[in-house]
Amino acid sequence: MKNRAIHVVFAGIFAVATAAVMAAQGRNGAAQPAPQPATAAGHRALAVAAAGTDHPGLLATVCPAPAAGGAARGGAGAGRASAGAARGGAGANAAGTGRAGGAAAQAPTPARGAVRAAPARETWHAEPVKVFDNLYWLGQTEYSVWAVNTSAGIIIIDTIFDYSVEDEVVDGLKKVGLDPANIKYVIVSHGHSDHSGGAKLLQDRFHARVLMSKADWDLLDRSNGTKPSRDMVVEDGQQLTLGDETLTMYLTPGHTPGTISTIIPVKENGETHTAAAWGGTAYNFTITPDKGREYWFHTYIASALRFQAVEQAAKADVVIANHTNFDGSKQKLPATKNRKPGDPNPWVIGTDAANRYMTVVVECAKAGLAELEGR
Ligand SMILES: [Zn+2]
Repeated sequence: MKNRAIHVVFAGIFAVATAAVMAAQGRNGAAQPAPQPATAAGHRALAVAAAGTDHPGLLATVCPAPAAGGAARGGAGAGRASAGAARGGAGANAAGTGRAGGAAAQAPTPARGAVRAAPARETWHAEPVKVFDNLYWLGQTEYSVWAVNTSAGIIIIDTIFDYSVEDEVVDGLKKVGLDPANIKYVIVSHGHSDHSGGAKLLQDRFHARVLMSKADWDLLDRSNGTKPSRDMVVEDGQQLTLGDETLTMYLTPGHTPGTISTIIPVKENGETHTAAAWGGTAYNFTITPDKGREYWFHTYIASALRFQAVEQAAKADVVIANHTNFDGSKQKLPATKNRKPGDPNPWVIGTDAANRYMTVVVECAKAGLAELEGR
């Protein structure tokens, strides 16, 4: 697995180098020496170029400027880690936005699950938004839940926390005119409590089937938080059909051992678009004695390259994420609410911008690996 991952990384570097050589060729076709994108700075520059003006939130999260890093990052991370330990960690997963280099980022999986008081509602509540004819955003300020409405019921993608699921998902569905009793499936992208914490309520109350990868069911087994009972196991490339809708799920290990990324057909005014959801973004890896940060960076990069190819093949022109900072939700959701008839849908960014989202994901991870290896 590791060798294959390394091979993919090298193949990617080769492709970049080849492109650079081609770009550097003058009018006479003479090859110029290629730049060296294998350094952290080189990969970061590629990520910055790929982000353009479309993906600043993603870029800032996974690829902050080097000046923001080093000791400052370690310090912030350490603060978050102790907060997570003290509070039992609902917020600890948000620390996943921390960078590779920070001291806290080296720590094992953040503590989670110990009993703690829920944060005050006014600090996280957000109103639901209809995004496409069959897709609704039901999240809280920093975290997203997506509801896919089909002709035979509702599929929920990610469930936020145990303390917020009732308010945002159950009541949110009612606010947009849907019946939570129609929730048939719940896909949990990965077993961190900011996405899995609400699944138990949906399972218990509505008898929704809960889907996760085997590796992340195992991950939940090792955590103490509110969690659903083990249910359906997602295999790589598995399709989930409900009524007139078919989603395709891919195992993209990296952020967690069994992160699921999903391709979702969405509709508006009789037109179909394709949404891609990269299931786990930050580098708060599941570190074990035999699988350290380097292993997970290689694995993450291989998964990201693979999902980028999946997205391109599916002609994805919409990107959705499970943190509102990543996919521009904080701008796109208000823009959606203010949309007038005939205005373009702000979520339809096109295949090029969707592809560049994954280039940012790939290149920032390569920068993180290069940094780890001192390049
Ligand atoms: Zn996570």
